[in-house]
Amino acid sequence: MADLLIDGRWVPSVTGRTREIRCPADGSLVAVVDEASSDDTVAAIGAARRAFDEGPWPQTPATDRSALLSRVADLLERDVEKIARAESLDTGKRIVEARYDVADVVRCFRYFAGMAQGLSGRVVHTGDAGVLSRIDYEPVGVCGLITPWNYPLLQASWKVGPALAAGNTFVIKPSELTPSTTILLMQILQEAGLPDGVANLVLGAGPEAGAPLSEHPDIDLVSFTGGLLTGRRVMAAAAATVKKVALELGGKNPNIVFADADLDAALDNALTAVFLHSGQVCSAGARLIVEESIHDDFVDALVARAGLIRLGGPFDGNAETGTLISAAHREKVQRYVDAAVAEGAVLRCGGTPPADPALADGFYFLPTILDGCTTSMGCVQDESFGPVMTVETFRTEDEAVAIANDTMYGLAGAVWSSDASRVQRMARRLRHGTIWINDYHPYLPQAEWGGFKQSGVGRELGPTGLHEYLEAKHVYQNLNPAPSGWFAGASAAEAPA
Ligand code: NDP
Repeated sequence: MADLLIDGRWVPSVTGRTREIRCPADGSLVAVVDEASSDDTVAAIGAARRAFDEGPWPQTPATDRSALLSRVADLLERDVEKIARAESLDTGKRIVEARYDVADVVRCFRYFAGMAQGLSGRVVHTGDAGVLSRIDYEPVGVCGLITPWNYPLLQASWKVGPALAAGNTFVIKPSELTPSTTILLMQILQEAGLPDGVANLVLGAGPEAGAPLSEHPDIDLVSFTGGLLTGRRVMAAAAATVKKVALELGGKNPNIVFADADLDAALDNALTAVFLHSGQVCSAGARLIVEESIHDDFVDALVARAGLIRLGGPFDGNAETGTLISAAHREKVQRYVDAAVAEGAVLRCGGTPPADPALADGFYFLPTILDGCTTSMGCVQDESFGPVMTVETFRTEDEAVAIANDTMYGLAGAVWSSDASRVQRMARRLRHGTIWINDYHPYLPQAEWGGFKQSGVGRELGPTGLHEYLEAKHVYQNLNPAPSGWFAGASAAEAPA
């Protein structure tokens, strides 16, 4: 079967080009998929435009949209093993993590099924008996959805769920490296009964297959998750036709540990914060900011634990974390570590690929801790998007806040302390979109997700996430229409016969 979904039909690229998808854990061939050109993407946009302007979906009652999203959740649950396996093979992540991802995706569709049903406008009371005034919520139109490789299905569901709940049509482009689960999601949308043309899929490289999604005048909204530089490009391209833009970009997230914290919990979670999925998580707690009085013992214990983390492939039951996504990405992480050491960071562990010959076919990188860092260093400011923790120290609460906020990013962060007032003060002062207190990484579909500063524009998930995909329309009705009376001369002129 061909792999591009355009107007309800699975078609190959007009160019006939294909791409091999290989598992980053061992280089094995996973799939050969069709590779879209920009012409394919423009055709997909045309299909989505027609489905929005002429098709039934935007007018479908909210209860029916909700029922369809619930069916999608049921079908995802039915296929959990198949989908998790595909996600593991594309990304190299452990199957246990891929199963968690699918469970999160199911929760996401169920959440937006509920939101679709609850969607209603509101009356605007003017106090004037001669006026009816209300706000209606309508779908934005045709959405261009662009997703990254680290959580391919999860990131797709955060966009597809609210876009459909609101009655939009869309074209989605996953990362060229990880298309498989987005293909499976499209198949499930079809099986659930979504009308042709509402969901369209193109595969291929961002600059070619993806670019029309931020440039084409028939796209009304572009929602992008990925790196900061690509996000800036998408935003600039979207400006030419003043599209609605939602961006979920990177993060350089502080994980602040006070001496009065539950240190066992803080230590264990500091490892999870940064080494989960080998650090390829936008909200990874890559910056440990630890109170100076506990620095030595805390970091020694971290180094000991990091050295014990077992690396392995998706189906290795002993593995605790996996590979990086590609050779190019591993080279980038290596350059980042080398530059950090060159600017004075102290390499406490890791810093290279593992020597284990069993891992030689993958793009593994050892869990790495860089001590003695400060906010003036590149390694603290730049994302590595790999398994690398930088360590900074502070003496006072004010200093911890200043250090944690000294970044152009503002996605997420955590505070560890047993002082109930202090954690609330810190949460208020940290300029990051999500603050975890005595925890790291949990998120809720009911709560907004998004970044301050250059970590993004707009919110995903939660009620605001749905509203990103809606236009608010004010409808005003004069119950007693009459001449305006503004231009006396004109109204005095004889009316045409
Ligand atoms: P990229 O920015 O390289 O790519 C993201 C997506 O954009 C891919 O589908 C890519 O296609 C596509 N793309 C690339 N160029 C263009 C273009 N000119 N026009 C349209 N689309 C384009 O990010 P990565 O995939 O490398 O993902 C890692 C980054 O994503 C990290 O910086 C991370 O922080 C961020 N991220 C943020 C999250 C958040 O919620 N804030 C969540 C997850 C990741 P292709 O790859 O096929 O070329």
